Amino acid sequence: MQNSHSLKAYKFGGASVKDAAAIRNLVRVVQEQGAGSSLLIVVSAMGKTTNALEEIFQLAYAGQDYTTHVTQLTDFHRGVARELLPEQTGNVLGHTPNEPSLNQLLEQLSDRLATLTSGDFDKQYDQVVSFGELLATRIVASALKAQWLDCRHLIRTDHAWREGRVDWPTTERIIATTLPPLLTQGPIVTQGFIGGTASGLTTTLGREGSDYTAAILAYCLQAESVTIWKDVAGLLNADPKIFQNTVRYPEISYQETIEMAYYGASVIHPKTIKPLAVRQIPLYVKSFLDPTAEGTKIHDCQHGLLAPAFIRKVNQCLVSFESRDFAFISEENLEVIFGALAQARLKINLMQNSAISFSICADFSEHRLEKLLEALRDQFTIHYNTGLELYTIKNYDAASIQQLTSSRELLLEQRTRQTFQFVCRG
Ligand code: ASP
Ligand code: MG
Repeated sequence: MQNSHSLKAYKFGGASVKDAAAIRNLVRVVQEQGAGSSLLIVVSAMGKTTNALEEIFQLAYAGQDYTTHVTQLTDFHRGVARELLPEQTGNVLGHTPNEPSLNQLLEQLSDRLATLTSGDFDKQYDQVVSFGELLATRIVASALKAQWLDCRHLIRTDHAWREGRVDWPTTERIIATTLPPLLTQGPIVTQGFIGGTASGLTTTLGREGSDYTAAILAYCLQAESVTIWKDVAGLLNADPKIFQNTVRYPEISYQETIEMAYYGASVIHPKTIKPLAVRQIPLYVKSFLDPTAEGTKIHDCQHGLLAPAFIRKVNQCLVSFESRDFAFISEENLEVIFGALAQARLKINLMQNSAISFSICADFSEHRLEKLLEALRDQFTIHYNTGLELYTIKNYDAASIQQLTSSRELLLEQRTRQTFQFVCRG
């Protein structure tokens, strides 16, 4: 692929496009940091638009009145457009006649909502909730005077609504043939989070999936790097909204980052790392508020001891099973328990066994837990607690354990060489 080594992918999330001032800042970051490179820019929905669209969709699906919500959403996008592009008086036109205008997209959204049927909830969710990214990219592309592309024609997925699985060979073929010539004409802006099926329907890739989109595109184009622009200084050892005195990792390996995402760190969508690791594409996490600061480089590297990472998962339940006759927990028992957990779609975050009992910590869902109890009640005595929190300290030391556990009553704890985990009340 020609010129691939000067191609950079940028991803801007909801906070970086939350209003007109934020979009002006984005334009500055792109102009200053992206100068001299071919740029592919992936953008999420503005601010909390995806949540608003979920609410609108639920109302519409239930046959309830959603008009005030839609008016709010429309006014918000038009207002931002008017502020950024006053000459277009609240509409935003495309760069070429093939690109839809803001008004056309808003009309398409209204049409979708008006024609919802009572069919497959998840399928229809995707057809509606995807508009957050379509609207945001329309405004951002015009503010940047960049080309707008519809990512539903670029990323091909199956019909797994709300968690579309990428058809990699088709996606790579489409992207590697259509994008390079367009990129020579200037930057491209496209949507995160959304893809399309072979039959032309819209899919979404899972909440917070825009990071993954940037990784898919970078993989297919063999980009030089991906940069995720965030409102924090880089990849931190803890969420600053929850923990004090966070530190930034200047560099960290793909492997460590995948593990942190697995334990529940919400920094980067968990699916993002694999395609980048496969093609050895470095991922930078940088602050859009301080774009010249170093940030974090995630790549294939060896590092010394990392500062302990603190990860909290809320809304957990702890379920323990005892065999009714006080017999030991056996492989046969475990097979039954695991089967029922899979059936109930309860995801195990931690497990532990003793002679006569077996315990798991999982994301709580009343409906799923009920299903599990129903399946196993006859064979096991089952106790459970809800409203719990699961803490993970990765690369722990004595001080970090002390810091987190001293004021808490631990219901269960476990340690491996690198990881200390415990469950406590929320
Ligand atoms: N807008 C989508 C969401 O809020 C995708 C993303 O932000 O990455 O989940
Ligand atoms: Mg987001």
